[in-house]
This record gives sequence, C-alpha cells and structure tokens, in this order.
Amino acid sequence: EQRELGRLRSKPTRTRDGVDVTLLANAESHEDVASAHAMGAHGLGLYRTEFLFLQRNELPTEEEQFQIYRDTVLGMSGRPVTIRTLDLGADKADRTGLALTSEENPALGLRGVRLSLAHPKVADAQLRAILRASGYGPVRVLVPMVSAREEILAVKRRMSRLAVALRAEGHAVAEQTPLGAMIEVPAAAIALETLIDQVDFLSIGTNDLVQYLLAADRNNEAVGALYSPLHPAVLRLLAQVIQTAQAHATPVAVCGEIAGDPQMVPLLLALGLTEFSLHPATLLEVRRTIRDSDLRMLRQRGKKLLQARDRRGIERWIRESAPA
Ligand code: PEP
Ligand code: MG
Repeated sequence: EQRELGRLRSKPTRTRDGVDVTLLANAESHEDVASAHAMGAHGLGLYRTEFLFLQRNELPTEEEQFQIYRDTVLGMSGRPVTIRTLDLGADKADRTGLALTSEENPALGLRGVRLSLAHPKVADAQLRAILRASGYGPVRVLVPMVSAREEILAVKRRMSRLAVALRAEGHAVAEQTPLGAMIEVPAAAIALETLIDQVDFLSIGTNDLVQYLLAADRNNEAVGALYSPLHPAVLRLLAQVIQTAQAHATPVAVCGEIAGDPQMVPLLLALGLTEFSLHPATLLEVRRTIRDSDLRMLRQRGKKLLQARDRRGIERWIRESAPA
C-alpha cells in the first residue's frame, strides 16, 4: 500500500471524470518544503512565517527573513510559493515582545494583519524580505485574519511603496506579486463581495473560521465536541465563499486542516472546491481520494449535503459519498 501511494507522487491529481484539482502544500519548515516538493505538490499554498518569530528574544531581520524565503522559493523550483504574513497574537505569542502576552480574548485581539498594521516597521521588514524573494521565483503574499477591505488596501499600499523603493535600491522584484486574503473571519466570508475586487486569490482558513463561526475555541477541550466543520452553518458559508470566488474568477483554496483529511475530500469537492492546501504528510492520500472521486456525481449530491440539518446528517452524507 505504501508503494502504491508512492507511485502517486508523479501522477496527476485528476478526478475519475477528468477534472484537474490543484494540490498545494502547507509548510512551516525547511523539511516541510522538501517534502512538499517530493510529494509533487503544485506549489506552497500556505507558508507560515510565525516560526521565525518564536523561540527567540529578538525579531528576525529583513536579511534573515529574505534568505529563508529565497531558499523556500528556490526549494520549490519554479512552483508558486504563497508566503503568509505574520500571524502572531496572544494566542500564538512570541518572546520578542511583539505580540501582547495577555489579552482577555486573545483570539479576538491584536493578531494577524491587525498586529502587522500596528507595527509598520516589522510589517515592512517582512514585506521587503518577501518582495526580494520574488526575484527568485513565483511568490504570492497571503494576509491572515482579514476582516475588512481596508486591511487589504493598507497592505497593498505598503507593498507597492516598498516594491518601488526596492527597485530603486537595485533589487530584482517580480513585476506583479499576487496578493490574497485568508478567509477565516466570518465578516470577510459573509461580505466577500465587498473586498474580492482587491485580491488576486483567496484561501479559506477553516481552523479559525470554524472557531469564530461556532463561537468555540479551537484550543479548548471543554468545547471540543462543538468545534467541528460538520455544522450546517460551516458548510453553507463554505459553499457561499467558493461560489462567490468562482463567480469573480478568483482562485480559492481551503488551507485549514480539513483540506488534508481524506474523509473530507468528497464533501469539499461537492461544495465546488478545486484547490486544496494541506500538510505534505497526507498529500498522497488526498490525491488518491480525488483520483477515485466522481466529481459530477458529488456535485449532484451537493444539494443534499447543504440540506442536512445536523452533524449526523452530514456524517451520513460523507459515508454515502466515499469513493467505492
Ligand atoms: C486556519 O485558520 O485555518 C489556518 C490555516 O491558519 P492557522 O491554523 O495558522 O491559524
Ligand atoms: Mg488561521
């Protein structure tokens, strides 16, 4: 079985009825990048940068970040690399003094893009490092915790200003660096129409979207049974985001943990998803499930999925839709 899976490294990610699906990888270390490349990921869909700020007392410099981002880009040999800007907060606190260490509601506090915009020098050092890496291969920038159009506009303005300055300094910077938003705050998902014209792509962060939508802390075991993507509200919102993105011809991926769960593959395909971003560890299993799936049949069954009224109904749909 391992050998059979291994053969899928170089096989296309195509459904039984001939539709190509994009499989991107989530990575947060050199090892993840190497493994993403080896498993035949089409690129990196989520390169988390928090690790550069954790377990140390000083902020990483622009130069240090640049070298790591450049090596990541080179490590993917021409496949696109999606670098997420810093997503620290009191819930993922660092020791450099950047993130607040105690907030009453850290998940609702100064985290993600809010933290970056509150520390323009830190944000600029990271964006400069990313833009410099774009001279070495295709790079995209992904912004976490977006709740409104203004945040995208603020990042976009900084990026264009920095690109001009970098070129004046003699650095090679890609002509265009696509900018994307994580859709993980319900406000951004519900009002997607209000900001979609400002982004080049979207990535749905279901880990946080589920937490915020169901008001269930993703790290609190006491509400662990409530924290689940198998809730009708989650499925309806996912379907709505995917449809809106498709109507605007904006690429959309799911990069939360559910994208790497082979059992969730038929459900996500039924909701219209054609781009997954997942940890390389389960990439081949997910590829196998996609190759065994009949997309037309799943999309037909999608209506029934959205009619399910509870978790048991959704679980039944999943059981009945698993590839034979
Ligand atoms: C998410 O929220 O789904 C996500 C991918 O980001 P993180 O787990 O880093 O918050
Ligand atoms: Mg998140």
